[in-house]
Amino acid sequence: MTRTLPSYILGRWQTPDDAGRPLLDAATGEDVALISTAPPDYREVLDYGRTVAGPALRELSFAERAKILKDLGKQLSTQTEEFHVLSARTGATKRDSRVDVDGGIGVLFVYASKGARDLPTDGPLLDGEAEWIGKAKSFGVQHVYTPLTGAAMQINAFNFPVWGMLEKFAPAFLAGMPSVVKPASQTAYLTQLVVQRIVESGLLPEGALQLVCAPAGDLVDHLTGQDLLSVTGSAATAAALRTNPVIAGNAVRFNAEADSLNCSILGPDATPGTPEFDLYVDQLVTEMIVKAGQKCTAIRRALVSRATLDEVADAVGGRLRNVRVGNPDSDDVDMGALVSLPQREEVRAAVATLSSECQLVHGNPDSFELVDADPKRGAFLPPLLLCCTNPGAQAPHTVEAFGPVSTLIPYDSAAHAIELAARGAGSLVGSVVSHDGTFVGEVVLGLAPWHGRLLVLDRDDAGESTGHGSALPHAVHGGPGRAGGGEELGGMRAVTHHMQRTAIQGPPAVLANLSAQGRP
Ligand code: NAP
Repeated sequence: MTRTLPSYILGRWQTPDDAGRPLLDAATGEDVALISTAPPDYREVLDYGRTVAGPALRELSFAERAKILKDLGKQLSTQTEEFHVLSARTGATKRDSRVDVDGGIGVLFVYASKGARDLPTDGPLLDGEAEWIGKAKSFGVQHVYTPLTGAAMQINAFNFPVWGMLEKFAPAFLAGMPSVVKPASQTAYLTQLVVQRIVESGLLPEGALQLVCAPAGDLVDHLTGQDLLSVTGSAATAAALRTNPVIAGNAVRFNAEADSLNCSILGPDATPGTPEFDLYVDQLVTEMIVKAGQKCTAIRRALVSRATLDEVADAVGGRLRNVRVGNPDSDDVDMGALVSLPQREEVRAAVATLSSECQLVHGNPDSFELVDADPKRGAFLPPLLLCCTNPGAQAPHTVEAFGPVSTLIPYDSAAHAIELAARGAGSLVGSVVSHDGTFVGEVVLGLAPWHGRLLVLDRDDAGESTGHGSALPHAVHGGPGRAGGGEELGGMRAVTHHMQRTAIQGPPAVLANLSAQGRP
């Protein structure tokens, strides 16, 4: 019998007794689990986090919380094999699973080491130095950070069931706030397994991490000004939550990571035969096929100088011809399945809209070869490359096909490339692939206001570059406008997001005492 996913709430695993709805294997269509259709009592869940875990977490120093994150990372690292096996059921290949599972565990280690190295061993976290207001220096101000006393409500998207949870949990925990995780239903079974192993480790103070495998229900109604709401998902979900009267009325700290029409720009200097041309093609192909293109950071718009458009199309098409699609468990496969059949239909519909203004230059969504898989039961699509020779078209700058889909668009000058990039209305990440310092300088500063992160790739940094699509715990992950206007990661920025900054005004002795406690 297919099991219903339990939630870990109020200090124990609880399995709802409603019939639930089935969650299907992305590649085979078999049942993996059932998920409840009945939301829990979110008021109770949030209160439990605030009252049971909050005080216990705030009792711990940054160093102690950092040590727990490190131990947790070590513990989970010994269990990755079983996570990878279950991850394949989301459609992920072995490489995809490493991005999600091992990448997520990596975030724990990064925050553990930042916590140990960059935060005070005891006392509050200071924001800058004390400033004296009066000439006699008998009265000054020192800004300090203290953890909010509520709970961090975290709503995640389906595409990163492990990383998505851990990248939100790690900074919240380091800051001293309890997390309530609501995974996307479609892949909640993998999040649930990881949380089960976390709970079994006994490393976390009780209530520091609760998991709700159920719909969002009325969770927003119970959030207060000491809580946070972080959401990763579509622009529509982010907008609905942002404009909820409770979020506005209680000034709930809100962070959204939404969808994004990220661009990658090939410099005019990067003609065929240059290392940058090859790097560009390689990166574009990688971003199209990793996680079957279901990455918020994937390259949706490939901007290339008009002179190289055909050559890039040929080179990318040539590489995509060798991409084997099919059973994600197979070693012979480069790209697995989309997460579900409805998701595949959404991508097909988006490609149809794009095709009204663009031409499909590689791949056919209705006819392609599959390795060891059933095209009717699995949510497969081939990589699809489009070309839009009219850069003034609407669809490529407004429609997100959340799958292995990218569109080539020609630009005529550096200013034109910036203008086209900005038509995405705000993106998580952009990249510039060029070895021409003048072009790079002009384009990077022009793109910056429209992006949360920018990668410059050339022959000099390619060896160590982490690539266009990798959100890193060290760097801001978020972007303006359509991308949600948030900053989910970014080192200490993500930690202090969970804390209140307060200006403490007073005499030198009081400020000196704070400073003495609050240094790393
Ligand atoms: P989604 O449908 O917006 O769902 C995201 C999450 O929000 C899920 O947990 C979902 O729960 C929940 N949700 C939906 N409606 C809600 C509501 N009214 N109130 C509270 N929660 C609600 O997005 P998705 O299909 O999972 O993910 C794909 C989208 O996410 C793409 O557009 C992609 O670009 C974006 N994404 C962005 C990032 C980023 O970092 N910027 C990362 C990954 C994905 P249920 O699953 O239970 O419905």
